[in-house]
Amino acid sequence: MFKLFLFIIIIFAIYTLWQHVQKLKVQAGKKNTDEIKPMQQCYFCQVYVSQEEAIKGPNGHWYCCAEHAQKVEK
Ligand SMILES: [Zn+2]
Repeated sequence: MFKLFLFIIIIFAIYTLWQHVQKLKVQAGKKNTDEIKPMQQCYFCQVYVSQEEAIKGPNGHWYCCAEHAQKVEK
């Protein structure tokens, strides 16, 4: 009887651990996609900047800074 009780505890422990690992895998997956940011090349100086920092001009070109955008899009 004690062996059956121990067996149930071990199964429960493995199941709990497995769920924890699955949760960690999901979090790691989310982290990886966050780290991959789309990059844009500056139309003026050809430098690559993340799309968050890049500035999009009215003609559809991307720029690393407002200064370069103004120089091209006069
Ligand atoms: Zn630039």
